[in-house]
Amino acid sequence: MSETDRLHSTLSSVFGLTAFRGAQDAIIRHVTDGGNCLVLMPTGGGKSLCYQLPALLRDGCGIVVSPLIALMRDQVAGLVEAGVNAAVLNSTLSYQEASEVERRLIAGDLDLLYVAPERLLNPRCLSLLEQARIALFAIDEAHCVSQWGHDFRPEYIGLSVLAERFPDVPRVALTATADALTRQEIVERLSLDHAPQFVSSFDRPNIRYEIVDKKNAVGQLKTFIAERHAGDAGIIYCLSRAKVEDVARALQDAGIAALPYHAGLDAGVRARHQDRFINEDGVVIVATVAFGMGIDKPDVRYVAHLDLPKSIEAYYQETGRAGRDGKPSAAWMAYGLQDIVQQRRMIDDSDASDSFKRVSAQKLDALVGLAETVNCRRARLLSYFGETFASENCGNCDNCLTPPRVRDGKILAQKLLSCVYRTGQRFGAMHVFDVLVGRLTEKVQQFGHDKLSVFGIGRELNEKQWRVVLRQLIAMGHLHADSEAYGALRLTESARGVLRGETEVRLREEAEGARNRTIRAKSRRGELAPASPGQSKTDAVLYTALKAWRTETAKKRGVPAYVVLHDSTIDGIAAARPATLTELRGVAGIGDRKLEHYGTELMEVINAHRAEP
Ligand code: ADP
Ligand code: ZN
Repeated sequence: MSETDRLHSTLSSVFGLTAFRGAQDAIIRHVTDGGNCLVLMPTGGGKSLCYQLPALLRDGCGIVVSPLIALMRDQVAGLVEAGVNAAVLNSTLSYQEASEVERRLIAGDLDLLYVAPERLLNPRCLSLLEQARIALFAIDEAHCVSQWGHDFRPEYIGLSVLAERFPDVPRVALTATADALTRQEIVERLSLDHAPQFVSSFDRPNIRYEIVDKKNAVGQLKTFIAERHAGDAGIIYCLSRAKVEDVARALQDAGIAALPYHAGLDAGVRARHQDRFINEDGVVIVATVAFGMGIDKPDVRYVAHLDLPKSIEAYYQETGRAGRDGKPSAAWMAYGLQDIVQQRRMIDDSDASDSFKRVSAQKLDALVGLAETVNCRRARLLSYFGETFASENCGNCDNCLTPPRVRDGKILAQKLLSCVYRTGQRFGAMHVFDVLVGRLTEKVQQFGHDKLSVFGIGRELNEKQWRVVLRQLIAMGHLHADSEAYGALRLTESARGVLRGETEVRLREEAEGARNRTIRAKSRRGELAPASPGQSKTDAVLYTALKAWRTETAKKRGVPAYVVLHDSTIDGIAAARPATLTELRGVAGIGDRKLEHYGTELMEVINAHRAEP
C-alpha cells in the first residue's frame, strides 16, 4: 500500500473522515516520515490529527505531553471509543493502574500515551521510555514553555531534555498561540531550530467579535444572554474570585444555569462544576482564567469577558474556546476605563523585572487598541499575529456589522490634553473632567483651577462622553494613566503632535445603544448567522432524537456526550438521513468502531423518525 493510501485508509477507518483540512496533509506526511515540526493552528483547526495519525502509522507508541488532566482523560476516552489503544499516565492513577499502563507501553501494546509533563520528566519515567519504542513526541499547548506567555508552566521548560535523550524521535510542538516571541521560545526550548513551521490562518470566521462600553456589566451580560444565547453553553471570565461568585449568583437569580469556578474553590467542587459544564447541555461557567485551558468542549456558544484580559494572546486564546465545532459563536466583552487602570496597576505592583513589566504594558496597550479600534476587529486581531486579513470588512464583528460613527476629534483631543497639561499632570480623570466641564468643586477651588484658561472649555460634552474620549486617547497612546499615582494622567511624547495640530485624531462616537439594537435585530432575523446546512422540520425532529439518544448513551458509558458523537456528526446524520449502515459510515465522524458500536442503535433512531411524506 502506498503511503497516501495508508494515510487515507486510517483517516477513514479510525476517524471516520474523508479528507484532510488545510495543512494537516503536509504536517502528517512530514511527521510520519520522522520529521520535527512546529504546528500553529487555531483552536478547532484540527491539531490532534496531526500527531494522532502519524502515531498510528509509525512504529511504537506516540507520547503526548499535555498540561491538563481533564483534557487528557477526554481525549483518551474519544480515542478508545474510536478503537485506538490509548491511555493516560498521570497522578490520578493508582499505583496498580499506572503499573498496568507502563506494562502495556513496554509490551508495545499502546498507540498513544498521554502524559503530564511533570510525570514525563521524572527520571523513572524517562528511563521507562528509553526501554519502549516511541513513535513520536507531541508537545501539546507548546506555548506553555513561554515565560512571557499567559500560560507559563515551569515543568514545560524541562522538556528540552527530550531532544537530548531522544534525538531520533520526532518532536511535534503544537499551539494555538502564535505571536512571534512565543514561537521563538518554543523553537529554542524544544530544539526545533531547523524544523519547518506550519502556520495556518488564525482566523476563526464563525466567531463574532463584539466589545461594548461597560456600563453595568452584569446587567449588560444578562441582556446579552437572554436575547441571544438563552439555553446555550458559555464561559464568562472575571478577574477576581469574589467577582466570579457575585456574577454566578446574579445569573442564577436570573434563572441561568451558571456555576462558579476559581482556584479558591474546593477541588471537588471545581471538578463537579467542570464535569457538569462538559457533560450537560447549556451550562454556563463563570470563572477566573484558571478555567478553560484544555477544555475540549466543542459546542461552547459564547465567551464573555467582564474584565479586560492581559493581552491579545490571552483574549484570542480565551475567546477561541467558543465554537470549536465551527458553528456561529460569540466573543463578547464589556470594557471601560477602569479596566485599563486596574490592569496597569497589576503590572506595576507585580514583583516582575522591569523588562517583563515593559513587555506586559505593551501587550496591554495592544489589547486596548483592539478594544478601541473603529475598524474591523478581526483584521486588527489577525494583524497582531502577523497575518493580513484579505478584506476590510469581515461582516462578523460589531464594527463591520454596524460601523461606529467616527468624527474628527482633533479639537476635543486638544482640549482634554491641554487640560491635563495645565493642571500639572498630577490629577486623575475625575478632576480633569470637573475642570473641563467647569464644575466648581472644592478641589477645583483649592488648586485654583477655576482660574485656568482651560476651566469650562469642554462644556459641549458631559462627563460620560469625556470618559469615552479619554479612553480613546489612552488607547492611541497620547495619554498615560499612571497607576502609581492613583490614575494621574500624563501626556506622552505623541501628545505634542496632537496639541500642535499635526496629528489626526479620529474618535468613535458612542452610540452603543443603537449599535446593540441593530446587532440584536439582525441576530433575530437570522441575518448574522453564517449559512448552516438547511434543516427542514423533519431534520430538526431527527436531530433532537439523535441528541437525546446521545445524552442517554453518554450517561450509560460515563463519558461526555461529544465523546460519543460530535455535534457536527449529529448534524451530518440528520442532514444525510442514511438508509443503510454503509451510508451511515459515509457521514464524517463515523469510523469503523463507531459504526460497530452504535450503527444499529443509530439506524433504529433514524428509522423511527423517517420523514413522513
Ligand atoms: P484543535 O486541537 O486544533 O483545537 P481538534 O483536533 O480538537 O482541534 O479538532 C477540532 C474538530 O475538527 C474536531 O471535531 C475534529 O474531529 C474536527 N476535524 C479535525 N480534522 C478534520 C478533518 N480533516 N475533517 C473534518 N473534521 C476534522
Ligand atoms: Zn470585522
